[in-house]
Amino acid sequence: MDDADQETFDLIVVGSGAAGFSAAVTGAKAGLDVALLEKTEHFGGTTAYSGGFMWVPNNSLAAKAGLRDSVEDARTYIRHLAGDHFDPERVEAYLTQAPQMLDLFLEAGLCVNPEPYAGDFHSEVPGARRGRAVSPAPVHASILGQRLSELREPLPETTFLGIRIGSGPDMQHFMNVTRSWKSASPREGKRSKSAAARTCAGTASSFAAASVQRPSPESDTRPEKPLSAG
Ligand SMILES: Cc1cc2nc3c(=O)[nH]c(=O)nc-3n(C[C@H](O)[C@H](O)[C@H](O)COP(=O)(O)OP(=O)(O)OC[C@H]3O[C@@H](n4cnc5c(N)ncnc54)[C@H](O)[C@@H]3O)c2cc1C
Repeated sequence: MDDADQETFDLIVVGSGAAGFSAAVTGAKAGLDVALLEKTEHFGGTTAYSGGFMWVPNNSLAAKAGLRDSVEDARTYIRHLAGDHFDPERVEAYLTQAPQMLDLFLEAGLCVNPEPYAGDFHSEVPGARRGRAVSPAPVHASILGQRLSELREPLPETTFLGIRIGSGPDMQHFMNVTRSWKSASPREGKRSKSAAARTCAGTASSFAAASVQRPSPESDTRPEKPLSAG
């Protein structure tokens, strides 16, 4: 390879799941020139299969919904569940950083639904609260432009006729397809197919790909720099 073929980056991130994309977006937001490497032909990793729920105690969305929470309550909850495995240093790091992480991504445009009615799994444990979980909000798959075909498909086991189980608005259109012009229209059908199959779990990846690589979400042109160089 001669010098003309070489590219220089401030930050090279390996892996295009939630961890990699989070690092890449954080770097890009800090003004770094970022390359994200992915070894497979599709980006998204296990994250693209996942439900995408994040457990973020004391988060700002819950506070806006009027829910009570605190670092102390969250620490109490974890301490009761972790038992001998309670690691104060790591727990403090998580409790401090997780709400900041969510705010950073909200500020950067990540579409997230608050879940004010979702309680902690162990609601009987001291310190348990509602609203700590947040879920990815559907975004239109076209945000990825031509990159859409490179996003990892969801698992067949978690889809119905290509529609993700749990992708609310898209499943509603599907169920109403013989009763509503809106649901039956090709535009909605197209949106349903793509959005249902590819946005809910892939929201973070989709958003991150757009943020790191694309100048604007409206543009459907291929980014100048490759997403995958691995
Ligand atoms: C059905 C399902 C539902 C889930 N639901 C949730 C949920 O609601 N909430 C939750 O918190 N967790 C959930 N999980 C777990 C969650 O998905 C994973 O913990 C998370 O996605 C892991 O993210 P990651 O970035 O560490 O790894 P991944 O998303 O797997 O990404 C790793 C990426 O790195 C790439 N890679 C690996 N080695 C190299 C290399 N040498 N060079 C270049 N690229 C490389 C891989 O190909 C992959 O794309 C769920 C999991 C499943 C399967």
